[in-house]
Amino acid sequence: MAEDHDDDENGHDESALTRLVHSGRDAGEQFGFVNPPVVRGSTVLFPDVASLTSGDARYTYGRHGSPTIRLLEEALAELEGGACTRLAPSGLAAISAALLAFVEAGDHVLVTDSVYRPTRRFCDRVLKRLGVETEYYDPVIGKGIEALMRENTRLVFTESPGSQSFEMQDIPAIAAAAHERGAWVLTDNTWATPLYFKPFDHGVDVSIQAATKYIVGHSDAMLGAMTANARAADRVKAIHTDFGLCPGPEDCYLALRGMRTMGVRLERHQQAGLEIARWLSGRPEVSRVLHPGLPEHPGHAIWQRDYTGASGLFSVILHPASREAVAAMLDGLKLFGLGFSWGGFESLVVPFDPSSYRSATTWNPEGPALRFHIGLEDVDDLKKDLAAGFERLNAYRG
Ligand SMILES: *Cc1c(COP(=O)(O)O)cnc(C)c1O
Repeated sequence: MAEDHDDDENGHDESALTRLVHSGRDAGEQFGFVNPPVVRGSTVLFPDVASLTSGDARYTYGRHGSPTIRLLEEALAELEGGACTRLAPSGLAAISAALLAFVEAGDHVLVTDSVYRPTRRFCDRVLKRLGVETEYYDPVIGKGIEALMRENTRLVFTESPGSQSFEMQDIPAIAAAAHERGAWVLTDNTWATPLYFKPFDHGVDVSIQAATKYIVGHSDAMLGAMTANARAADRVKAIHTDFGLCPGPEDCYLALRGMRTMGVRLERHQQAGLEIARWLSGRPEVSRVLHPGLPEHPGHAIWQRDYTGASGLFSVILHPASREAVAAMLDGLKLFGLGFSWGGFESLVVPFDPSSYRSATTWNPEGPALRFHIGLEDVDDLKKDLAAGFERLNAYRG
């Protein structure tokens, strides 16, 4: 994989892989220790009245930031190539806050039909109640989004690829159409991570990470991040302050620690994910593999153009099989856990079916759909586990 060297807003011109290791820590301020301390606290004491009232103290109160939070924010802003990052206690909290940073009653927002389902629920419940209309669009609409833009369209929300169905979005084309009409462009960048997709080079104004996934990387903390370009920075800072979003320092520390190994973890997730995706596409039980890194994927050209890698999450559509046969396959897996979330070191699988809540597109595949997260286990062991699963599936069919 090419290491992309970019000269970001902080003036660093080292590779992202190097910055992952060196950003967000300062031994000089940490008594020489490599890693920063976990700073807990609410009250910040001031030495005198003059500094308490000056308004230019670095830290003023726990909710407004602490050294642990600030180090992670700075590291993520640098990695995404944005002007500032603000954290939230979960990925969903970051998404909800980012949406609310821009909308007001009477606005119209365009959201990809492939969006993470809880994002959709937030739009359908909270935005609706506030008088904001959500319209879902076909994820592969590209430049065609122009036709959906209205006078009151305030923002376009993208997520590429969709984290179940893996449609790739032409974000540069969507962003150009949105900006032409004065709308903001938000993206959920969790799948690619800032290592494999640089949102601000492709026209995005706010990039959101469910840091719970690859940044924390060990399935042991919940965390979200909103990173904004210079134009959107004040909005994101204001909503963060107004909601009082402050994740715990332990979780921020775990994210900083996760970041150090994220480069090598993702390379491995990518390699193993592609190898298993190719292997699955050769299995007689599998109808299609939805992995944008495979040449036969309909979004492969966009992936090649805009992305520098793939993470370890993809889906497959099986040939028709009963619910019970699929359960027999999955229930007996020894290495693949059955569970939501992804981005940790371990392999996971979940059956999924978005057919009941899609509105701009129809989801009607030829057979059951499974989403895989390929972890850091030995690839041959994972294949054996899946091969045994297919035997159970076939045995159930009789
Ligand atoms: C998990 C996930 C989220 C939400 O993150 P949480 O930390 O679980 O709230 C958002 N978007 C995508 C694509 C996700 O997979």
